[in-house]
This record gives sequence, structure tokens and C-alpha cells, in this order.
Amino acid sequence: MSNRAILADNDIPRQWYNLAADLPHAPLPPLGPDGQPVKPEQLAAVFPMNLIEQEMSQERHITIPDEVLEIMLRYRPTPLHRARALEAALKTPARIYFKNESVSPAGSHKVNTAIAQAYYNKQAGIERITSETGAGQWGSSIAFACSQFGLECKVYMVKVSFEQKPFRKMMMKTWGVDCISSPSMETQAGRDILAVDPDCGGSLGIAISEAVEAAVTDPTGKTRYTLGSVLNHVLLHQTIIGLEAQKQLAAMGERKIDKVIACVGGGSNFAGIAFPFVKEKINGADIDIIAVEPASCPTLTRAPYVYDHGDVARMTPLMAMHSLGHTFMPPGIHAGGLRYHGMAPLVSQTVVEGLTRAVAIQQLECFEAAVLFARTEGIIPAPESSHAIAQVIREAKQAREEGKERVILFNLSGHGLMDLSGYSDFLDGKLSDHSLSDEEMAKGLVCLEGLPKPAGR
Ligand SMILES: *Cc1c(COP(=O)(O)O)cnc(C)c1O
Repeated sequence: MSNRAILADNDIPRQWYNLAADLPHAPLPPLGPDGQPVKPEQLAAVFPMNLIEQEMSQERHITIPDEVLEIMLRYRPTPLHRARALEAALKTPARIYFKNESVSPAGSHKVNTAIAQAYYNKQAGIERITSETGAGQWGSSIAFACSQFGLECKVYMVKVSFEQKPFRKMMMKTWGVDCISSPSMETQAGRDILAVDPDCGGSLGIAISEAVEAAVTDPTGKTRYTLGSVLNHVLLHQTIIGLEAQKQLAAMGERKIDKVIACVGGGSNFAGIAFPFVKEKINGADIDIIAVEPASCPTLTRAPYVYDHGDVARMTPLMAMHSLGHTFMPPGIHAGGLRYHGMAPLVSQTVVEGLTRAVAIQQLECFEAAVLFARTEGIIPAPESSHAIAQVIREAKQAREEGKERVILFNLSGHGLMDLSGYSDFLDGKLSDHSLSDEEMAKGLVCLEGLPKPAGR
């Protein structure tokens, strides 16, 4: 009765998988302020050229540098677990497996791309990294990675989280990284927002504007910006999750996978586990691949597929994606990592092309799922990951009703040990559900007027 598949160090994948090479339609290019496709040089003040090349690459497989593998081998390959206790509690004939990304140093999948991004910046002669963080998962991941490569780092943390989640801030400090509350007085973008709204609680879009500005205005030219999700190269780095899972499921004797499930904020942990399976689907496999988002930030299920900016100050290029509008201010639900107005363009495209689908779930159902998972499997999941678990439970119950065996794989993107205040609020009955109203949504979409539309889609 094996409950886990552990890969040997030697079996760690040596290449990332790039879905852009296999999509039925070529991805739409990001557009600059003039409405023309962005040229690599135009991004050179923001990202190092080696990562820009990866961002635009159409190559199917990209070799993982040895220096990156070496650091990943501290916690990878991550285990694939069979969730037998959860199956028993649900009395389901489904076999449920999950990839445990909570075992990384910062406790989530984000470390996978943080290590790679720090490495490529170091290779390019960059000395200082700026970034933003919402709940602190990305900030702590890039802080860990910068500590490994001897890079300086400054993280702009969304103010509400900065005040409510002190522990991630302390993790960053422990790894030697300066974390400040956003909006801040240090950037023009921050000062402009505080002038209008001194009590602004911040948002990921605002923090991105600050971090990009801090990178591109550094007179030494040795500072670049990093992003923990959304971009093609970030999704690429995460595909190691799904590539490992394919080997591990085979080792567990599974030939046919029916469902692949992950939560989506910017889309990176979903892409990481799902894209190798999307490839199988393109090649004829029958797999239901499901992205799960919060009902209060319903990007894939309700927002239009448009060209939009990634940030409030419109410093990023326009990307073809589902978007609630770059001015959208998400409500303060506990899954902080899922409160982004946009979506990774590659993830959006898989939904548009019918290769994956999305569902939205309310926060109470997610916390109920998280608590059941904690009381069966033992691991306290990140509130973000609980969205995937809630959908797994729906699917497992459906399998029971239909009396069908089914193989379900999901991504446990992180643990919730730094998010216990959310659990406490839930267990004390203080949380409620929240759906975005049509009026609130319409307000957010106004900022899209006048922007170019994705052609032919
Ligand atoms: C950041 C985060 C997410 C959401 O980001 P994606 O890019 O959509 O993966 C999900 N789970 C955890 C644990 C996170 O830290």
C-alpha cells in the first residue's frame, strides 16, 4: 500500500517544457504603447536578455542549468502522494493524487521559478532585484533565491498583507531582504496613489508598478525586476512539477489520468502541473484539465479575453489575457495569492482553445475542503491550494455518485502554516462568501475601453 512516489535525485527532469511550441495557434505577442508587438530591446531595462529570450522562445524543451538543478535538489523532486485518507473520508472510488510543492524552503511552488530567475539575473551581471508580493509567498521565495546567489533584493508588499501577515515579512528579513509596504513614498507610482488615497490598502497591480519603476530608474543599470507568475518564462520554470508527476504516476501504475486540477491566481502553479498534460491532450489523450479560481476574483470564468496591462500604472506591455481590468481592486479574501486582475496569457489561451476549463468557488467551500484535507491527510494547505482541493472533492463525490473509478491529480501549491489567521477566522465563523456583482465588474472593465482587441479570437 504505497502512499507516495519518490523520485531519485537522478530522475529529476533536466529540461523544462514550453507549451508555446505545441499550441494549435501561435501565442499573440505582447504589445507596446504604440500598439505594435514589443521588441526584445524594449524589455531590456526590466528583465535580463537571457530571460527575455526564454519569454519569447518557441522551443519545445529548454535545458535546466546545472546551478539551478543543484539548488532545486535540496527539496526536489517533490513527493507525489496518494490521498488515501481523503478518499476514505469521501467514500469515493476515485484515486486522488497530489504533488506536494509545500516542501520547498519558502513553502510553495514559487521557489521553483525564483531560483531560475535569480540564476539568470546573476548570469547577466545584475546585482539587485526588485519585486512585489501579495500575501508574501513570492517575496519569501525570491528572498530565499537571492540569498543563494548573493543578489540584493527589495520587495514591495501589498499594504494589507504587510500589516496582517508579519511572518512572511520576517522570513524575507531572515534571508536578508528588505521588504516595504506598498503603496510607498519611494516611487512616483506609490506617491501618486497615496496623494489621492492616503489609506489605500494596496494591490498587486500597484506593487508591480512600484517594483518596475524602482528597477528601470536605477541609474547604475544593475537592477532588474522579477515577477512570480503570469509570464511565459515563469510558467516554463514551473513545468518541472507536471514533468515529475508524469514519471511518478507511471511509477504508481497509473496509465490514464482523468482529471488534472490546480488553483489559479496568475496561473503559474496550474501551468506547472497542467501543461505537460495539455501536451498529451493535444496529442489525443482524454483529460479534463481544470483551473480553479475564487468567486470574488473570477478572471477566467467571467472576465473577457482582451489586451490589458499587468499593472495599475500601465508600465507593463499589453498582454492578451482574460482580465477584470488593470484598475480592479479585489476584495480582501484570505487566498491573497489569487487576487490578481489578469491571467497568464498562455493559460488564457488554453481556455480559449478549449484545452482547459475554469470553475470559480466560494471561500467557505474552500476552507471546508482545507479543513477536511488537514484532518485526513494531515497537511494544512495554503488557502490558495484549498481551491484545488474543493474542486477535487466535487469530482470525487461525482465519481462516487456515478460509481466510476477515476484518477484525479492536483497540485498542493503550498502549505498554510503562515496563513493560520485565515483558518482561525473561518473556524470562528467570521468569514462569509462573496461574489463579484455585475456592477462591480462593469466598473473594473471601463479601463479596457480604447485598448486594442486580440485579433481573430
Ligand atoms: C502565489 C500562489 C498561488 C497563486 O499563484 P499562481 O501563479 O496562480 O500559481 C497559489 N498557491 C500558492 C501557495 C501561492 O503561493
